[in-house]
Amino acid sequence: MLHGRTARGWLACALLAAGAKPAAAQHMLALPRVSAPLPALSLPASPVSWAAAMSAPLLALPAPLLSPILGPSAAPVLTQALAPVAPAAPSAEPLVRKAGASESFTAQVQAQLRAAVPAGAIADILAHGYIILVKDHLTQDRPDLSADLDYTGGLNDWGPLGNFIMVAERIRSVKTLDWMESQVWRNAVVHECGHAVDHVLKATDSSEIREAWAHDLAAMPEAAKAESSPDGRKNPFYYFVRPGPDGSFDRARQETWAEGFDILMRGEASSFNYANFQAHFPRTLAAMRGLLEARYGRLGA
Ligand SMILES: [Zn+2]
Repeated sequence: MLHGRTARGWLACALLAAGAKPAAAQHMLALPRVSAPLPALSLPASPVSWAAAMSAPLLALPAPLLSPILGPSAAPVLTQALAPVAPAAPSAEPLVRKAGASESFTAQVQAQLRAAVPAGAIADILAHGYIILVKDHLTQDRPDLSADLDYTGGLNDWGPLGNFIMVAERIRSVKTLDWMESQVWRNAVVHECGHAVDHVLKATDSSEIREAWAHDLAAMPEAAKAESSPDGRKNPFYYFVRPGPDGSFDRARQETWAEGFDILMRGEASSFNYANFQAHFPRTLAAMRGLLEARYGRLGA
Protein backbone atom coordinates (compact mmCIF):
# COMPACT_ATOMS: atom_id res chain seq x y z
CA MET A 1 0.00 0.00 0.00
CA LEU A 2 1.39 3.32 -1.08
CA HIS A 3 0.33 6.68 0.10
CA GLY A 4 1.76 10.16 -0.13
CA ARG A 5 0.73 13.73 0.11
CA THR A 6 1.46 14.02 -3.60
CA ALA A 7 -0.19 10.80 -4.62
CA ARG A 8 -3.44 10.17 -2.81
CA GLY A 9 -4.86 7.79 -5.38
CA TRP A 10 -4.06 4.74 -3.34
CA LEU A 11 -5.69 1.42 -4.00
CA ALA A 12 -6.99 -0.83 -1.34
CA CYS A 13 -5.14 -4.14 -1.35
CA ALA A 14 -7.36 -5.35 1.42
CA LEU A 15 -6.68 -8.80 2.63
CA LEU A 16 -8.90 -10.63 5.04
CA ALA A 17 -7.73 -11.72 8.42
CA ALA A 18 -9.38 -13.65 11.19
CA GLY A 19 -9.89 -13.33 14.92
CA ALA A 20 -10.60 -10.35 17.15
CA LYS A 21 -8.25 -8.51 19.43
CA PRO A 22 -8.91 -6.06 22.26
CA ALA A 23 -7.61 -2.54 21.89
CA ALA A 24 -3.92 -2.40 22.63
CA ALA A 25 -1.86 -0.25 24.95
CA GLN A 26 -0.93 3.28 24.00
CA HIS A 27 2.72 3.48 25.01
CA MET A 28 5.41 4.95 22.81
CA LEU A 29 9.00 3.87 22.49
CA ALA A 30 11.57 6.50 21.69
CA LEU A 31 13.38 5.98 18.42
CA PRO A 32 16.25 8.21 17.45
CA ARG A 33 15.44 9.85 14.15
CA VAL A 34 18.35 9.43 11.77
CA SER A 35 18.81 12.13 9.21
CA ALA A 36 22.30 11.42 7.90
CA PRO A 37 22.69 12.13 4.18
CA LEU A 38 22.71 9.19 1.83
CA PRO A 39 26.11 8.23 0.45
CA ALA A 40 26.86 9.64 -2.98
CA LEU A 41 25.76 7.30 -5.74
CA SER A 42 28.12 6.22 -8.44
CA LEU A 43 27.57 4.25 -11.62
CA PRO A 44 29.03 0.76 -11.37
CA ALA A 45 29.90 -0.95 -14.64
CA SER A 46 28.12 -4.25 -14.21
CA PRO A 47 24.52 -3.03 -13.79
CA VAL A 48 24.94 -0.86 -16.88
CA SER A 49 25.98 -3.73 -19.11
CA TRP A 50 23.37 -5.89 -17.50
CA ALA A 51 20.75 -3.23 -18.18
CA ALA A 52 21.84 -3.06 -21.82
CA ALA A 53 21.47 -6.82 -22.12
CA MET A 54 18.03 -6.62 -20.53
CA SER A 55 17.00 -3.84 -22.90
CA ALA A 56 17.96 -5.64 -26.10
CA PRO A 57 14.91 -7.94 -26.33
CA LEU A 58 12.68 -4.95 -25.72
CA LEU A 59 13.92 -3.29 -28.86
CA ALA A 60 12.44 -6.15 -30.83
CA LEU A 61 8.98 -5.21 -29.63
CA PRO A 62 6.97 -2.82 -31.84
CA ALA A 63 7.34 0.77 -30.66
CA PRO A 64 3.58 1.43 -30.67
CA LEU A 65 3.21 -1.42 -28.20
CA LEU A 66 5.88 -0.09 -25.89
CA SER A 67 5.22 3.63 -25.89
CA PRO A 68 1.94 3.57 -23.94
CA ILE A 69 3.54 1.19 -21.45
CA LEU A 70 6.84 2.96 -20.94
CA GLY A 71 5.34 6.42 -21.07
CA PRO A 72 6.91 9.57 -22.42
CA SER A 73 9.40 9.94 -19.59
CA ALA A 74 10.93 6.52 -20.02
CA ALA A 75 13.20 7.02 -22.98
CA PRO A 76 15.86 9.29 -21.46
CA VAL A 77 15.87 7.76 -17.98
CA LEU A 78 19.42 7.21 -16.91
CA THR A 79 20.40 3.83 -15.57
CA GLN A 80 19.76 3.83 -11.84
CA ALA A 81 23.09 4.16 -10.08
CA LEU A 82 23.24 2.13 -6.93
CA ALA A 83 26.43 2.18 -4.93
CA PRO A 84 26.88 -0.76 -2.60
CA VAL A 85 26.34 0.01 1.05
CA ALA A 86 28.24 -1.67 3.85
CA PRO A 87 26.01 -3.87 5.97
CA ALA A 88 25.13 -2.13 9.21
CA ALA A 89 26.50 -3.66 12.38
CA PRO A 90 23.88 -5.53 14.40
CA SER A 91 22.34 -3.17 16.88
CA ALA A 92 20.15 -3.52 19.92
CA GLU A 93 18.48 -0.21 19.06
CA PRO A 94 14.75 -0.51 18.46
CA LEU A 95 13.96 -0.12 14.77
CA VAL A 96 10.29 0.49 15.38
CA ARG A 97 8.18 2.81 17.45
CA LYS A 98 5.29 1.31 19.33
CA ALA A 99 2.30 3.51 18.67
CA GLY A 100 -0.81 1.81 19.94
CA ALA A 101 0.04 -1.80 19.18
CA SER A 102 0.61 -4.38 21.88
CA GLU A 103 4.07 -5.06 23.27
CA SER A 104 4.17 -8.55 21.80
CA PHE A 105 3.05 -7.49 18.32
CA THR A 106 5.60 -4.67 18.30
CA ALA A 107 8.33 -7.18 19.17
CA GLN A 108 7.16 -9.46 16.37
CA VAL A 109 7.34 -6.63 13.83
CA GLN A 110 10.82 -5.74 15.01
CA ALA A 111 11.94 -9.37 14.69
CA GLN A 112 10.41 -9.61 11.21
CA LEU A 113 12.30 -6.52 10.09
CA ARG A 114 15.62 -7.89 11.27
CA ALA A 115 14.97 -11.33 9.76
CA ALA A 116 13.53 -10.36 6.38
CA VAL A 117 14.92 -6.95 5.38
CA PRO A 118 18.64 -6.44 4.61
CA ALA A 119 20.43 -4.31 7.19
CA GLY A 120 21.58 -1.98 4.43
CA ALA A 121 18.01 -1.42 3.30
CA ILE A 122 16.93 -0.62 6.85
CA ALA A 123 19.87 1.80 7.11
CA ASP A 124 18.78 3.48 3.86
CA ILE A 125 15.20 3.79 5.11
CA LEU A 126 16.16 5.25 8.49
CA ALA A 127 18.72 7.57 6.91
CA HIS A 128 15.90 8.96 4.79
CA GLY A 129 14.04 10.00 7.93
CA TYR A 130 11.54 7.16 7.93
CA ILE A 131 9.87 6.23 11.20
CA ILE A 132 8.45 2.73 11.46
CA LEU A 133 5.23 2.91 13.46
CA VAL A 134 3.55 -0.17 14.86
CA LYS A 135 -0.05 0.88 15.35
CA ASP A 136 -3.26 -0.65 16.58
CA HIS A 137 -4.85 0.30 13.25
CA LEU A 138 -3.58 2.46 10.42
CA THR A 139 -5.80 5.51 10.86
CA GLN A 140 -5.19 5.68 14.62
CA ASP A 141 -4.10 9.27 15.47
CA ARG A 142 -4.40 10.20 11.78
CA PRO A 143 -7.88 11.60 11.07
CA ASP A 144 -6.52 12.89 7.76
CA LEU A 145 -6.24 9.33 6.44
CA SER A 146 -9.13 7.62 4.71
CA ALA A 147 -11.03 5.20 6.95
CA ASP A 148 -10.82 2.71 4.09
CA LEU A 149 -7.14 2.24 4.92
CA ASP A 150 -8.17 0.24 7.96
CA TYR A 151 -9.11 -2.61 5.64
CA THR A 152 -5.37 -2.97 4.99
CA GLY A 153 -2.43 -3.85 7.18
CA GLY A 154 0.34 -1.52 6.03
CA LEU A 155 1.00 1.94 4.67
CA ASN A 156 3.92 3.92 3.32
CA ASP A 157 3.26 7.57 3.85
CA TRP A 158 5.43 10.57 3.18
CA GLY A 159 4.76 14.23 3.22
CA PRO A 160 4.80 17.26 5.52
CA LEU A 161 4.04 15.13 8.57
CA GLY A 162 7.12 13.01 7.94
CA ASN A 163 8.03 9.72 6.31
CA PHE A 164 6.32 6.74 7.85
CA ILE A 165 6.07 3.02 7.44
CA MET A 166 2.98 1.94 9.35
CA VAL A 167 2.04 -1.59 10.26
CA ALA A 168 -1.30 -2.35 11.87
CA GLU A 169 -2.02 -4.98 14.50
CA ARG A 170 -5.73 -4.95 13.66
CA ILE A 171 -7.62 -4.46 10.42
CA ARG A 172 -11.31 -4.40 9.53
CA SER A 173 -12.98 -7.16 7.63
CA VAL A 174 -14.21 -6.00 4.23
CA LYS A 175 -17.12 -8.42 4.53
CA THR A 176 -18.30 -7.92 8.12
CA LEU A 177 -16.58 -4.61 9.06
CA ASP A 178 -15.49 -6.32 12.30
CA TRP A 179 -12.05 -5.58 13.72
CA MET A 180 -9.71 -8.53 13.49
CA GLU A 181 -6.12 -9.38 14.22
CA SER A 182 -4.21 -8.73 11.01
CA GLN A 183 -3.03 -11.88 9.29
CA VAL A 184 -1.19 -9.90 6.63
CA TRP A 185 1.32 -8.03 8.79
CA ARG A 186 4.37 -10.07 7.77
CA ASN A 187 3.74 -9.17 4.15
CA ALA A 188 2.93 -5.58 5.17
CA VAL A 189 6.24 -5.08 7.00
CA VAL A 190 8.38 -6.10 4.03
CA HIS A 191 6.08 -4.71 1.31
CA GLU A 192 6.10 -1.25 2.96
CA CYS A 193 9.88 -1.42 3.37
CA GLY A 194 9.95 -2.10 -0.36
CA HIS A 195 8.03 1.10 -1.02
CA ALA A 196 10.41 3.01 1.26
CA VAL A 197 13.47 1.62 -0.51
CA ASP A 198 11.89 2.62 -3.82
CA HIS A 199 11.19 6.09 -2.46
CA VAL A 200 14.81 6.41 -1.31
CA LEU A 201 16.48 4.98 -4.43
CA LYS A 202 13.90 6.01 -7.06
CA ALA A 203 14.24 2.47 -8.32
CA THR A 204 10.94 2.30 -10.22
CA ASP A 205 12.00 5.36 -12.21
CA SER A 206 15.11 3.55 -13.42
CA SER A 207 15.29 2.33 -16.99
CA GLU A 208 16.07 -1.20 -15.75
CA ILE A 209 12.80 -1.51 -13.85
CA ARG A 210 10.69 0.41 -16.36
CA GLU A 211 11.86 -1.75 -19.23
CA ALA A 212 11.68 -5.06 -17.39
CA TRP A 213 8.18 -4.27 -16.12
CA ALA A 214 6.99 -3.17 -19.56
CA HIS A 215 8.39 -6.34 -21.11
CA ASP A 216 6.62 -8.49 -18.54
CA LEU A 217 3.36 -6.64 -19.10
CA ALA A 218 3.59 -7.05 -22.86
CA ALA A 219 4.24 -10.79 -22.48
CA MET A 220 1.45 -11.31 -19.95
CA PRO A 221 -1.67 -13.29 -20.91
CA GLU A 222 -4.78 -11.13 -21.22
CA ALA A 223 -6.54 -13.03 -18.44
CA ALA A 224 -3.84 -12.01 -15.98
CA LYS A 225 -4.29 -8.34 -16.91
CA ALA A 226 -8.07 -8.35 -16.77
CA GLU A 227 -9.86 -6.47 -14.00
CA SER A 228 -12.16 -9.42 -13.47
CA SER A 229 -12.63 -12.91 -14.81
CA PRO A 230 -15.42 -13.78 -17.31
CA ASP A 231 -17.59 -14.98 -14.42
CA GLY A 232 -17.33 -11.52 -12.84
CA ARG A 233 -14.92 -12.29 -10.03
CA LYS A 234 -12.34 -9.60 -9.24
CA ASN A 235 -8.78 -10.37 -10.26
CA PRO A 236 -6.55 -9.39 -7.29
CA PHE A 237 -3.47 -9.39 -9.54
CA TYR A 238 -4.99 -6.46 -11.46
CA TYR A 239 -3.66 -4.27 -8.62
CA PHE A 240 -0.17 -4.69 -10.11
CA VAL A 241 -1.02 -3.93 -13.74
CA ARG A 242 -3.76 -1.35 -13.41
CA PRO A 243 -3.22 1.98 -15.19
CA GLY A 244 -3.60 5.07 -13.06
CA PRO A 245 -6.08 7.92 -13.65
CA ASP A 246 -3.39 9.68 -15.69
CA GLY A 247 -3.01 6.60 -17.89
CA SER A 248 0.48 5.90 -16.61
CA PHE A 249 1.58 2.68 -14.99
CA ASP A 250 3.70 4.40 -12.35
CA ARG A 251 1.54 3.26 -9.44
CA ALA A 252 1.24 -0.29 -10.76
CA ARG A 253 5.02 -0.45 -11.18
CA GLN A 254 5.53 0.84 -7.63
CA GLU A 255 3.16 -1.76 -6.21
CA THR A 256 4.89 -4.45 -8.27
CA TRP A 257 8.22 -3.33 -6.81
CA ALA A 258 6.95 -3.39 -3.22
CA GLU A 259 5.33 -6.81 -3.52
CA GLY A 260 8.32 -8.10 -5.51
CA PHE A 261 10.54 -6.88 -2.66
CA ASP A 262 8.64 -9.09 -0.24
CA ILE A 263 8.81 -12.02 -2.66
CA LEU A 264 12.57 -11.63 -3.14
CA MET A 265 13.14 -11.33 0.60
CA ARG A 266 10.83 -14.10 1.82
CA GLY A 267 10.43 -16.44 -1.15
CA GLU A 268 7.41 -18.69 -1.00
CA ALA A 269 6.60 -17.43 2.50
CA SER A 270 5.36 -14.35 0.63
CA SER A 271 2.42 -16.46 -0.37
CA PHE A 272 -0.21 -13.95 -1.56
CA ASN A 273 1.43 -13.28 -4.94
CA TYR A 274 4.45 -15.58 -5.12
CA ALA A 275 3.14 -17.83 -7.89
CA ASN A 276 1.70 -14.99 -9.98
CA PHE A 277 4.90 -12.97 -9.79
CA GLN A 278 7.07 -15.95 -10.74
CA ALA A 279 4.79 -16.53 -13.73
CA HIS A 280 4.13 -12.95 -14.85
CA PHE A 281 6.98 -10.74 -13.57
CA PRO A 282 10.13 -12.82 -14.21
CA ARG A 283 12.13 -9.98 -15.77
CA THR A 284 11.02 -7.49 -13.18
CA LEU A 285 12.05 -9.82 -10.36
CA ALA A 286 15.42 -10.42 -12.04
CA ALA A 287 15.93 -6.68 -12.57
CA MET A 288 14.99 -6.00 -8.96
CA ARG A 289 17.38 -8.65 -7.73
CA GLY A 290 20.17 -7.08 -9.81
CA LEU A 291 19.60 -3.60 -8.42
CA LEU A 292 19.07 -4.73 -4.83
CA GLU A 293 22.05 -7.09 -4.75
CA ALA A 294 24.28 -4.37 -6.24
CA ARG A 295 23.47 -2.24 -3.23
CA TYR A 296 22.71 -4.62 -0.37
CA GLY A 297 24.62 -7.78 -1.26
CA ARG A 298 23.22 -11.21 -1.94
CA LEU A 299 19.57 -11.67 -1.06
CA GLY A 300 18.51 -14.66 0.97
CA ALA A 301 15.35 -15.93 -0.63
ZN1 LIG B 1 1.82 -1.01 -1.62
